[in-house]
Amino acid sequence: MEDNQDYIWMRQALELAHFANSTHEVPVGAILVQDNQIIGRGWNQSITGNDPSAHAEIQALRDAGKQLDNYRFPGSTLYTTLEPCPMCAGAIVQARVSKVVYGADDPKSGACGSVFQLLPSDTRFNHRTDCIGGILATESSNLLKQFFQVRRSKAQPVNLGFPTMNRATKNKQQFQALLLDVDGTMAETERDGHRVAFNRAFADFDLDWCWSEDIYGQLLTVAGGKERIQYFIDTYHPALPQIPNIQEFIIELHQHKTAIYNQILHDSTIPLRPGIARLLQEAKEQGIMLGIVTTTSRTNVESLINTTLGPQALNWFAVIGAGNQVTAKKPAPDIYQYAMQQLGLPPQSCIAIEDSAIGLNSALSAGIPTVIVTVTDYTREQNLTGATLVVENLGDSEHPCQVLAGAINSINLVDIPLLKSLHETPQ
Ligand SMILES: [Zn+2]
Repeated sequence: MEDNQDYIWMRQALELAHFANSTHEVPVGAILVQDNQIIGRGWNQSITGNDPSAHAEIQALRDAGKQLDNYRFPGSTLYTTLEPCPMCAGAIVQARVSKVVYGADDPKSGACGSVFQLLPSDTRFNHRTDCIGGILATESSNLLKQFFQVRRSKAQPVNLGFPTMNRATKNKQQFQALLLDVDGTMAETERDGHRVAFNRAFADFDLDWCWSEDIYGQLLTVAGGKERIQYFIDTYHPALPQIPNIQEFIIELHQHKTAIYNQILHDSTIPLRPGIARLLQEAKEQGIMLGIVTTTSRTNVESLINTTLGPQALNWFAVIGAGNQVTAKKPAPDIYQYAMQQLGLPPQSCIAIEDSAIGLNSALSAGIPTVIVTVTDYTREQNLTGATLVVENLGDSEHPCQVLAGAINSINLVDIPLLKSLHETPQ
């Protein structure tokens, strides 16, 4: 008897299959779950990535590897909308996945009994992976049928090594993805969340340090929490505890601060800034991909999205570029480059939303031509040269958008049609 929870997880894998469909990929989605948490998400990216191994299951394993900094996931369950092929079955056993739950059978290349019998794993493997199928099978297979019908009617080859549709789309450089920074941009998490959490952590560690809103404004020129503490010590020379290793101390202090910050997000929701929820919804409805591009940790991102938009909303984002996925933090372009690589898109197809000079410069140096900056009290005096549009906020019914600089003088809302027209206008 299947577990009801299996349907809940499979529904999330199915959302990723729908997402693959929207990028003209064969619609298969997969998630990897461990201890009741999603540790990896994947969808077919073979056509967009020119990568025969980029099946949804393998992409989910790769994502989990990056998240957990490991290559084996004992005790995990992989949910995939289509019966895995022999390649994926092999990778699943290599990754020590405990169980596979799949949707539709694949009579052409399924490795769970339809064609090959690799899962539940063959006894000659040295790891046992269990397997059940048929969860939301009809929905999964209908999505695949629709996809192939559309492709046949357009007489376009699928998965034959001719990524015609993909190339054409890239060359047109349409606006396809909206990439958002989190802290300051989606919510005033810096002033009302991080700063407060730092101060509580200092008190818990018996440190006589206090970061006022003014001091914090200066510290925000440094990206990264640990880096910010180090900069504070170097610049303000506060009284230090008598300890042998200051680096270890900073790491512990920062971990404690992160725990407090997540508690703040959990207890008292920090609201999203005006227009954020509206614009995300519009993007979703109009087939614009969404991505998160931030220096903050993935846990922080997930807490904020959970408490403001609900846990389902995590699936709205085709990529969450966060924390330790790259070494060089903003203003380096690395995190934007990571996100665009995951999406299989060139910078010319993306628009970024940021709240500061650091973020703006990160997006610009990644080659993104259109960057909207929504200022905060901390950033309105910064040099924002290069921004396409500088506004107080994105605008909603109670907070009309106020333009501070840029190509347009007066608008009520930053919405998808406006972004499209800014994207088409040469900068
Ligand atoms: Zn496969």
